[in-house]
Amino acid sequence: MMQTQAIVIGSGFGGAVAALRLGQAGIETMLLERGRRWAIEDPTKNATFATFRNLDGRAEWLNSVSKTPGYEGIPIDKYTGVLEILERGDYKFLVGCGVGGGSLAYGGILIQPPKELFEQVFPSSIGYDEMDSIYFPRVHSIIGTAPIPDDVLESEYYQGLKVLEQHALKAGFPYVESTNAGLANGINRFPMGVDWDIVREEMAGKRVPSVIAAEFWFGNNSGGKKTLDQNYLKLAEETGAVEIRTHHLVTKVAEVPEGGYAVSVDIINDAGEVIGQQTLTSKYLFMAAGTIGTCELLIKAKVKGDLPKINDYIGQGFGNDGDTYAFRTNLSETTNPHLGGPGAIAVLNYENPIYPSVMMRAPLPRFETDFPNKDIIGTFVFAMTPHRGEFSYDQASDTVLLNFESDPKAKEAAQYLAELLSEKNGGEVPPIASQVTGHQLGGACMGQVCDDCGRVAGHPNLYIVDGSLIPGSSTCVNPALTIAAIAERCLDRILADDIKPS
Ligand SMILES: Cc1cc2nc3c(=O)[nH]c(=O)nc-3n(C[C@H](O)[C@H](O)[C@H](O)COP(=O)(O)OP(=O)(O)OC[C@H]3O[C@@H](n4cnc5c(N)ncnc54)[C@H](O)[C@@H]3O)c2cc1C
Repeated sequence: MMQTQAIVIGSGFGGAVAALRLGQAGIETMLLERGRRWAIEDPTKNATFATFRNLDGRAEWLNSVSKTPGYEGIPIDKYTGVLEILERGDYKFLVGCGVGGGSLAYGGILIQPPKELFEQVFPSSIGYDEMDSIYFPRVHSIIGTAPIPDDVLESEYYQGLKVLEQHALKAGFPYVESTNAGLANGINRFPMGVDWDIVREEMAGKRVPSVIAAEFWFGNNSGGKKTLDQNYLKLAEETGAVEIRTHHLVTKVAEVPEGGYAVSVDIINDAGEVIGQQTLTSKYLFMAAGTIGTCELLIKAKVKGDLPKINDYIGQGFGNDGDTYAFRTNLSETTNPHLGGPGAIAVLNYENPIYPSVMMRAPLPRFETDFPNKDIIGTFVFAMTPHRGEFSYDQASDTVLLNFESDPKAKEAAQYLAELLSEKNGGEVPPIASQVTGHQLGGACMGQVCDDCGRVAGHPNLYIVDGSLIPGSSTCVNPALTIAAIAERCLDRILADDIKPS
């Protein structure tokens, strides 16, 4: 007898979509999340989350010394905080933890890939037109997205974004209505997962400065960010069929002889100490622990014989979406690089001769002291790199290793774009050194480990619905919208063809 019909592991973009759609279909579902809930306590104060300006244990997942890039070595209390920082080789991978997963840490950037690049990465069985007409808009409507309004863009907080927009215009980039307007250069203002009325209240002093203060990595204390606990997960719980269990750290997944799956769980407290253990069983199992979390669980399950039929593609096709960070310094304008939120306007450099690339402004609080002249722009640049790495299992240490080095050509593409803007507008471009991303994707790719609906080959009723099934790239745009939209498509098919309410 199974304890529940479906288990979902992880409450980020893939897991939240799965939970809502299973709940709406009347499937009794348990969502297991290792982190805690983060309800906004007093939006007039920095009462809920840690901030860059006042780092504490709430910032990081179970670190007693900070590993946040640029803040390394600061002592903090060990706590089930928002950001897990995984060091793999000389690279740092960031993962959002807690109810809402990566949405707790994200910048609210929900941007749609263009057709030409989507078709280069995803299986041909996934029609772009269907994604464009049904699944991308569906995610936007549930999260409730909107483009940055003019009055906010014109404020001092977004001065750097205005400068970036003006520089791109002067460098010959035209305004385009959509990120899917052909593979030509453009400037696009796209819908964000940000509540702009709350941002206005921050600007008016009615809420604590948070979005406008570039505080997004550890959560937004004003409530200005549209995290998944406010939309998908709230709706999932309201169906009455979905139970979210926090502090449930999944340590093992296995098939059970009578059919279905067993999930071993450490129940932890806020300090990460194990205070109980459980094995939970279900007929249907949805893997949504994020790219690294899901790959680690599945690889261990394969090598230990718990999920023996997972095929040998597992671990392959890992990528970082060509994520780099480029500065432009010594500009002639004041840019307030420590203020405002990230994204909102994208510089689409699809005509980049190295790789199609996309640039967005990425403010950080520390730039206030790093660059007292406030004359720089810090930007994420994502490049359409074919470069991939892979996970492997090390028996001696019983750990899953990640063999990945970033693509030097992705950095060249970013450098090219930053220099193109500086050629026409002034400023200097220091060499790009970035070795940090939150955009890890792949390792359990669709068309290899699972089909284009997340069904794992060899293991009926086992599904992958998070970033690990995306084939290593979300086509040089931030991945959250694509992960959620693909999960929506998976759930539509799985619910229609595989799952019957009992
Ligand atoms: C600082 C930062 C900013 C970002 N900004 C953006 C942005 O603006 N736009 C964008 O598109 N993308 C952004 N990203 C990337 C985006 O957050 C991820 O691509 C996305 O969240 C991945 O979704 P997912 O469903 O694969 O998994 P996640 O959202 O990572 O969710 C996985 C969940 O599983 C839980 N989990 C993991 N292991 C276990 C386990 N063993 N047991 C139980 N639970 C477990 C985790 O705690 C987490 O809640 C950002 C990432 C970071 C770190």
